[in-house]
Amino acid sequence: MKITGRHYITEETVSIHIENDIIDSIETSNEKSDHWIAPALMDIQINGFGGYNFNGVEVSPEAVKEIVRLQWSYGIASICPTVTTNSHENIINSLKCINQACSDKQIANSIAGIHMEGPYISKEDGPRGAHPLEHVRDPDWDEFCKFQEAADGGICIFSLAPEKKGAVSFVEKLADSGVIPGIAHTNATGEEIDAIVKAGARLSTHLGNGSHALIPRHPNYIWEQLANDDLMASFISDGHHLPPSVVKCMFRCKELERTILVSDAVSYAGMPSGRYEGKTRSVEVSENGRVSLADTPYLAGAGLGLTSCVSNFSKFTDASLADAIHAASGNPARLLDRNTGSLEAGKQADLMLFKIENGEPEIQQTIVAGDIVYQL
Ligand SMILES: [Zn+2]
Repeated sequence: MKITGRHYITEETVSIHIENDIIDSIETSNEKSDHWIAPALMDIQINGFGGYNFNGVEVSPEAVKEIVRLQWSYGIASICPTVTTNSHENIINSLKCINQACSDKQIANSIAGIHMEGPYISKEDGPRGAHPLEHVRDPDWDEFCKFQEAADGGICIFSLAPEKKGAVSFVEKLADSGVIPGIAHTNATGEEIDAIVKAGARLSTHLGNGSHALIPRHPNYIWEQLANDDLMASFISDGHHLPPSVVKCMFRCKELERTILVSDAVSYAGMPSGRYEGKTRSVEVSENGRVSLADTPYLAGAGLGLTSCVSNFSKFTDASLADAIHAASGNPARLLDRNTGSLEAGKQADLMLFKIENGEPEIQQTIVAGDIVYQL
């Protein structure tokens, strides 16, 4: 298969030859094209989309597949379904459903691994975010082994709070087993953050969110993570979780190669705007993708997909669209040691073709492992 379009970095028209699932060669072309080609995006933190959920009682293998398929229309080739704090049984059920969905090869190609966020996080209001208090607990290696078994070895990122009892030895074991430890929903001191990084933590998960409304100006756990060059950081640049000025400052701090964009999307993401009556709470989805608890100023999760976060990030910072795409493709691929995320011969052919409409990328085609999975 051959696809032609303008290279997202060089802006030259190129023809990309794909042999099976791999980019075989890239050549400069004289053809004119108004399509752009870039590596497809990768979202390492997503809880649900389009009314479907990876968590709770709603999860099923079919729901997992639907979420993956919906991502394809946004130029997203791969995701890390994110399983959050819950009872042992519910977590095991989510992991099994995700694993079962992977019996479909095309779905498996789009699941880069599972991100577990919790249940070993801070109990405090603020850092805990929306994670249910009754299921927050201390790190337990035996329990993790059961999680990993249910996921058939598929857990690739595990985010936790460094100050939890036993967190350092737990993170050492995680790192030894090949899982990437991340920091999230924490109230840690600088010493605790240093210790967890020495133990193997490599990622600050959605830095700046899952924190107290008020913290000491310094020192605090946000500065400590920003200043630590051994930590990559993921950001939710949906325009609601972090003000544009904060995204810009944090990006300047982490620089491009340590910046990862994530959606952290919840099941309401991608749904029409309006009010949704849940069993325990009502949620309002606004036109601009804000998902809030009805009649309150509080967010109920993230409502924009990764592609919108990429264009927002470029607007909020001085990053080009190409750099924003890199932060949502090349950087997560490097963190996960995945052979995707750049336009080079020998890389897996996970690609997106897009036009720019009103300053936003409009996805024309998404290719995963050499297969066209979405065509406008
Ligand atoms: Zn979170």
